[in-house]
Amino acid sequence: MLQSVEARTGVAVGGRWAESTAFEIDAAVQAAADASDVFAASTASARAALLRALADALEADREALVAIADRESALGLPRLNGELDRTSFQLRGFAEVLERGTAHAVIDDPAVDGAPPMGRPRLTRVRVPVGPVAMFSASNFPFAFSVLGGDTASALAAGCPVVVKGHPAHPELSRRTASIAQEVVRAQDLPAGVFQFVQGGSIEVGVTLVQSPAIAAVAFTGSFKGGTALAKVAAERPRPIPFYGELGSVNPLVVLPAALEGNGAELAVALAGSICLGAGQFCTSPGVILVPNDAAGDSFVKALADALRPMQPHAMLSAAIRATFERGVAQWRSAPQLKPLVGDTADATSPAPQPFLAEVSAADFIASHALHEEAFGCAALVVRVASTKEIIEVLKAIGGSLTVTLWGAEAETDETRRLVRAATQVAGRVLFKGVPTGVAVTAAQHHGGPFPASTQPFTTSVGYAALDRFLRPVALQDAPSWLIERKGVPC
Ligand code: NAP
Repeated sequence: MLQSVEARTGVAVGGRWAESTAFEIDAAVQAAADASDVFAASTASARAALLRALADALEADREALVAIADRESALGLPRLNGELDRTSFQLRGFAEVLERGTAHAVIDDPAVDGAPPMGRPRLTRVRVPVGPVAMFSASNFPFAFSVLGGDTASALAAGCPVVVKGHPAHPELSRRTASIAQEVVRAQDLPAGVFQFVQGGSIEVGVTLVQSPAIAAVAFTGSFKGGTALAKVAAERPRPIPFYGELGSVNPLVVLPAALEGNGAELAVALAGSICLGAGQFCTSPGVILVPNDAAGDSFVKALADALRPMQPHAMLSAAIRATFERGVAQWRSAPQLKPLVGDTADATSPAPQPFLAEVSAADFIASHALHEEAFGCAALVVRVASTKEIIEVLKAIGGSLTVTLWGAEAETDETRRLVRAATQVAGRVLFKGVPTGVAVTAAQHHGGPFPASTQPFTTSVGYAALDRFLRPVALQDAPSWLIERKGVPC
């Protein structure tokens, strides 16, 4: 059973719902498959109208949606209102992208007379929607990475029906958002299969959905554990399908000596705020801070600890997420190679988590694989580094991350070039200013990165390039004129 729970108190409130049965999942996937051809052949302007209507409907129900989201997530009204704004902005953004013709862009190479390799037939490269997409919501963004979040927006923009699996941590919000979406689809005169919804609080629902033969791709945002388990299911199907998994990340932030000349204290305060933002429940939360092993570095670490210590994060998303956080911090607390700086005593009974910060040498960090894993919550490790070479070794040990931040790389030197090269090799986004929490929705955005940040590092789940995940290229050779005249719109 699914139960709506008040995140701040753990008390069950509101409704209780049964998980979707195998029969219901099959019916949802079948409806999506039945709608697939009609929706694929819809015009860009019809899909733009759908996306705008979804944005309008979300905003029209803002008050009720945000109140439920706050109750089920404890994320607070300002943050949730902002997240709803981002979600509707994103839906409208994809509508604009569609109207610019991006989804149906064509590459047309005219025929050339003569023998190959110079001579060739006419080739017209178009893109076709892959078909029904299974979409897995994350718990930590009840709007932006949930039922009508970026994965749903980009799949619908591409012309693919979606079957959303709601997250069990916000079941009431998921159901209400899904019913808004279904109403909009109906009002737009589209087949109901364009948007389908299933729910579950056990792994069977997700596994059954991914195994459904008519599902053509999976979009997943969530934990490393869940993402890798479902990626395996997608790969082991008789017909394997693409699994676009955006997983957790430790988001290393490198503080170079140049950054500490003058404004180290200010940077420490900004960083402490980023570590505690949303109680640290951001996939882009800075989890590993590389600091020079010198006197300026000592002062920065002290300023960071002083800024972090009094912070009072809000309650976490669920009791299970809080318990995992406390377990992870307890392990760090007892690790002999770590020197605790903040949160060195446990208080698992308090309603909200305490920030945690500890220091470790580069050598010990590199040697301990457990320290490279995301601790989802307001915890970070300071890694003391003595050279550019050591920074690069730490980044390589981490391996793959949504972001790397380089503070103090303004001057072009051999060292900053080497660091930028190392950062771009492990991250999908490299920042030179600011903090990694906050991911702008724009055409140039890349939210992904080498495994384990993403299972498909060439794709992004945020920004308008997210559309490309659901459009498969097809080369039409010597196509008849009626097909060319469709200008890339599938028939
Ligand atoms: P989660 O527990 O992995 O849940 C995500 C979805 O996967 C849920 O629908 C969950 O359903 C399902 N699931 C999990 N394990 C499964 C399994 N073994 N088999 C089948 N389904 C499974 O993640 P979360 O707690 O919602 O989100 C927190 C994590 O997401 C953090 O690690 C965070 O960094 C990451 N995240 C990443 C991004 C990004 O853009 N890369 C964004 C936000 C969050 P059930 O609970 O019903 O099993």
